[in-house]
Amino acid sequence: MLLLPAGAAAMKLHEFHKGASNFPASDRMPVLFVGHGSPMNAIQDNHFTQSLTAWGQRLERPAAILVISAHWLTRGSTSVSTSPDPETIYDFYGFPQEMYKIRYDAPGSPDFAKQVVQNVQSIQVHEDHEMGLDHGAWTILKHMFPKADIPVFQMSIDYEKPPQWHFALATELKKLRGKSVLIIGSGNIVHNLRMVNFQDFAVKYDWAVEFDELVKQKITEGDYQPLIDYQQLGRAAQLSVPTNDHYLPMLYSLGLTEKNEALRFTYEEVLGGSISMRCFETA
Ligand code: ZN
Repeated sequence: MLLLPAGAAAMKLHEFHKGASNFPASDRMPVLFVGHGSPMNAIQDNHFTQSLTAWGQRLERPAAILVISAHWLTRGSTSVSTSPDPETIYDFYGFPQEMYKIRYDAPGSPDFAKQVVQNVQSIQVHEDHEMGLDHGAWTILKHMFPKADIPVFQMSIDYEKPPQWHFALATELKKLRGKSVLIIGSGNIVHNLRMVNFQDFAVKYDWAVEFDELVKQKITEGDYQPLIDYQQLGRAAQLSVPTNDHYLPMLYSLGLTEKNEALRFTYEEVLGGSISMRCFETA
């Protein structure tokens, strides 16, 4: 039996729908952060990729997916990809041949990309008709949404801007969550490629674990400002974030959360000494 609130029978149908859309369970999509790690995850079956598969199955089907990836950096401007059929981009070198044959043929979403342009008031977001899907997007989506039947688009990271600026820009994208857009920041909280131990992925450097745990703690407490000001967090932060291309996507994910909106961790692992695979979502 359908229970209607008093007086509902007198409501016009569209008014009732409007009211129904305010029910908390369905009023916004979650926000995700994925620590994507090596492009090889695209073809590997491991604990991390298994967690992505399970995650994708658990999520409500979105109308579109917006990925803010460490691998689309622009300078002096921010762009959204508006291609209706974005190409799979192989933005890595020296990997096995099969990696360059993978395609993730999800459609693009020019309409939602244009909504980003409309929603962001602080800057003019540019439309990029050529941009495809970088590996920060497709290597994870391949596991999360293997059918590639949900439209995907990306927004670039203006690499000339400071962390606080990125966090603030993310807040301007919140409305998209209410329109069934799943927004995913894709990077790595600890990402020091020069210090990766390729001989032994089980190694965990002390400073990497220390910083990864500190980020976990701050996220759990909802205390994001120290994470925006990570450069003041000492030696572990400096070693963990030698360049912030992989760190900034996390600040977008945090900036997209509402005040007092809890986050939960879906995966945690430090690999090769200096890569954190930590992932989280809004609870
Ligand atoms: Zn990467």
